[in-house]
Amino acid sequence: MKARIPLVGLAACLLLLGAAADRPRAGAVDDARMLRAASDPTNWVVNGGDLEGRHYSSLDQINETNVSRLGPAWTFDFDTWRTQESEPLVVDGVMYVTTAWSKVYALDAATGKQLWAFDPAIPKERGVNACCDVVNRGAAVYKGRVYFGTIDGRLIALDARTGKQAWSVQTTPPDRAYSITGAPRVIKDKVIIGNGGGEFDARGFVTAYDTATGKKVWRFYLVPGDPAKRDHEVSDEPLERLARPTWFGDTYYKAGGGGTAWNAIHYDPELDQILIGTGNGTPWNQFYRSQGKGDNLFLCSILALDANTGKYRWHYQENPGETWDYNATQPMITATLTIDGKPRKVVMHAPKNGFFYVVDRTNGKLISATKIVEAMTWASGVDLATGRPIEKPGARYEKTSFALYPGPAGAHNWHAMSYNPATGLVYLPVGESSYMFQNASTPFVSRKGGVINDGLEHKKPMDPAAPTQISVPDKLIAIDPVAGRIVWSVPSQGGGTLATAGNLIIQGRGVALGDLAAFRATDGKLLWSRHVPNGVVANPITYMVGGTQYIAVAAGRGGSSTQFAGANGIGAPSFGRMVVFRLDGKAVLPPDPQPLPPVQRDNRVLARASVIKGQLAYVEYCIRCHGAPPVRPSPIGPDIRRSQFLLDPDAWKAVVMEGALSHQGMVGWKSLATPEEAEAIRDYVQDAARDTRQATVSGGPH
Ligand code: CA
Repeated sequence: MKARIPLVGLAACLLLLGAAADRPRAGAVDDARMLRAASDPTNWVVNGGDLEGRHYSSLDQINETNVSRLGPAWTFDFDTWRTQESEPLVVDGVMYVTTAWSKVYALDAATGKQLWAFDPAIPKERGVNACCDVVNRGAAVYKGRVYFGTIDGRLIALDARTGKQAWSVQTTPPDRAYSITGAPRVIKDKVIIGNGGGEFDARGFVTAYDTATGKKVWRFYLVPGDPAKRDHEVSDEPLERLARPTWFGDTYYKAGGGGTAWNAIHYDPELDQILIGTGNGTPWNQFYRSQGKGDNLFLCSILALDANTGKYRWHYQENPGETWDYNATQPMITATLTIDGKPRKVVMHAPKNGFFYVVDRTNGKLISATKIVEAMTWASGVDLATGRPIEKPGARYEKTSFALYPGPAGAHNWHAMSYNPATGLVYLPVGESSYMFQNASTPFVSRKGGVINDGLEHKKPMDPAAPTQISVPDKLIAIDPVAGRIVWSVPSQGGGTLATAGNLIIQGRGVALGDLAAFRATDGKLLWSRHVPNGVVANPITYMVGGTQYIAVAAGRGGSSTQFAGANGIGAPSFGRMVVFRLDGKAVLPPDPQPLPPVQRDNRVLARASVIKGQLAYVEYCIRCHGAPPVRPSPIGPDIRRSQFLLDPDAWKAVVMEGALSHQGMVGWKSLATPEEAEAIRDYVQDAARDTRQATVSGGPH
């Protein structure tokens, strides 16, 4: 008997060792695993689902015949009600998701149990540097670590098993209004990160850091800087040779120039290149930015860089000399398509400007550009020989105002488009928006402190009859990228798409509907939807644990896509959350948000001149977070018609001017606004609070 004890002990030890060996190391994603992501659909190891960025899964346990049985598997509430745009990753049963305010969670992907959480403790007053809410679109997992960017410009590496910080580096100049909202891209022991701030004073760049140490490897500036200096970076040569001759005057480098890469950083392993989507100019208005002339490279472009060195390879500029906030930072899909009988290595791209582009990714040559909006006023098409848009007269608003369709909200923004190789179709949300552009009547002056530098006229009211929002509904479309033809289109509003082999397209339907929906991929028929309840704009993903397929999406408010597109019906703020579905899921979703508090009204006599002055100041300082009352409250910040501070002039001043709520992200504006402007804003908001139209939007369906 005695002799057997050690043997039993040894066997137990071997069993334990075996179990430990079977359980993979946390975050065990390497280059080989990313390359074969498409053939491993139980996991979602990279942003985009695979390196092609297809947002496609070959899982079909959930399919068009049984999707009606989809029910909640689990939910996990975050601790912030700001907008959730994160695409989670799932690696070996662990979900890694980022949230608003740049926090990270590791959750058990089958149960939602929290494994760890990391909070980078963003100083809340830095939130004003984010144009379109303090969002984060996701992390990268690589060799046992989790990498993500923060609203205040840091890039952080965490231990994937414990959530403990391995290193952190400040990637942006802290004295300028940069932010990071996009997911980093990790390949071959480098983590590549861009930044945002093109509405303020940023000069865009992307940087590659060593994943092990956080040490900078290379940096590529996306627009030229001060001509008297050099950056001593890999971008110096192409900027001076190609880009500098396309810029004029000195405003651009003093104001920043823009071109920020705040979203798409795409790796193309076949050609070992990185494709960067670049942003709009700073200021928006080219008349002030570059004396109204020049292509202004590399704004609004797809830029191909050598994946190892960051060296320039080619670019394709979608909007030469852009002047409408038509950035090209939208996510990309790479594929090999048979076009005119020949296989072509392509990148597919739908930027804000209303075209869907197919570009040869070996050389940046345009293959096709298909109009995907119903209303387009700025161009009549794209010249396939030159690759340049055919702009319509007056579109640059040099002399008179111009009603731009699509508007700066974009025909397509950061939301994922998906590609099902079986149907050969690309699926994406399309917004029908517009905006009235007027050249600023006073010379452009770049300002700091979170004020948008666009070079447009804000000091005189828009013509109330001017079309700022058209009635064409937003939609979900399926496009054939080979034929350049929209195959189907259905009304929908909201988020990124997921395509699956179950013949399904999954999409969150924004703020107004607050649900997750499933459409049939072949014809767009709505097969299923479930009220979440919250706005849903993030990209859904799918994965499998223990033989069960799950569909997951981060839910919470609306972000930039619906910022100017109507957010009626939104309830009181409620926590963002991860919501996960499975067939026959029986978990109980949290209750609907509380109704909104009442509008605050008083009986003061409001001077008309003050209300108008307040409206102009409101547009300047408040609108991007608080929306445009009384018609369109924002899904980002509180509806201030309902604020208790509205009726108390001293409290109002303390908040609006002195920053009494800066710890919550509401900065004080006294360095820019005058006390008279602040009080006029109060009059304007009080006037809006008395507007009878508010009765139709208070509370709402949820
Ligand atoms: Ca922009």
